[in-house]
Amino acid sequence: MLLKDQIALVTGGSRGIGRGIVLALAKEGAKVAFVYKGSQEAAEKLVAEISQSGGTSQAIQGDVAQPDTATRIVEKVLSEWGRIDILVNNAGIIRDGLFVRMEPADWDSVIATNLGGTFHFCRAVAAQMALRQRSGRIVNVSSVAASHVNAGQCNYSASKGAVNSFTRALAVELAGRNVTVNAVAPGFIETDMSEAVRNKAGDLIKKMIPAKRLGKPEDIAAAVVFLASPACSYITGQVLTVDGGLSLGAVAH
Ligand code: NAP
Repeated sequence: MLLKDQIALVTGGSRGIGRGIVLALAKEGAKVAFVYKGSQEAAEKLVAEISQSGGTSQAIQGDVAQPDTATRIVEKVLSEWGRIDILVNNAGIIRDGLFVRMEPADWDSVIATNLGGTFHFCRAVAAQMALRQRSGRIVNVSSVAASHVNAGQCNYSASKGAVNSFTRALAVELAGRNVTVNAVAPGFIETDMSEAVRNKAGDLIKKMIPAKRLGKPEDIAAAVVFLASPACSYITGQVLTVDGGLSLGAVAH
């Protein structure tokens, strides 16, 4: 087990990619606390599933866009489990729409959740990891949409581009304290979030992906486990693209 007895905190763990990350970290021996917003039943099912396979996890309700959520949740995990070795900022939303029709609320909620949530949780763990533990792994879940943009996603692309820049800037500040900060940029992954686009675009998406399949949460989780593992102590400030070759922009054959 790569992460035996390590303590991990994952935001947005109840569904999709986050759920896959929680399962993968637990499988590698980590005790995992994860944050959900509305999917209480799914969160409780996940805790039970991990417990049945001998692992330890807990689900904590909270909205990552609210600044005090991160402080409350990090304090809870520290008081119960004593440390946080791994933070994964995965919670994210889309509010797609062409820019001429984009309401300020669609901009604000996406920025507050995707970028703000990442900031709040990094801020809440930074002193613990850098000053008290002198070790830690932070992995932010970004998107290929940060650089390979789509119509209707000005808010989303801006949030993920900022997550990438934030990842690099924070990595510089924490590297000397044995805390790495990296990001994973998924392509099209089969989750609730991508369902509408998948329904609309049909087979066109698969034609754009050299691997000729959509990604699964496990594909992203494997990259997160790698970046969270002890082997990655000298990798920091990087954005690892996991997209089956989508962003290579090659013509399908
Ligand atoms: P998803 O299926 O919609 O799941 C989103 C997860 O985030 C849920 O667990 C949800 O919790 C949680 N969440 C959303 N807003 C939250 C908030 N304000 N506070 C706390 N938790 C919140 O999405 P996904 O596809 O797994 O996406 C996960 C991450 O990957 C996101 O950052 C997304 O931008 C990124 N990504 C996804 C794709 C893709 O193709 N799917 C591609 C690139 C990047 P509840 O259900 O409990 O509300």
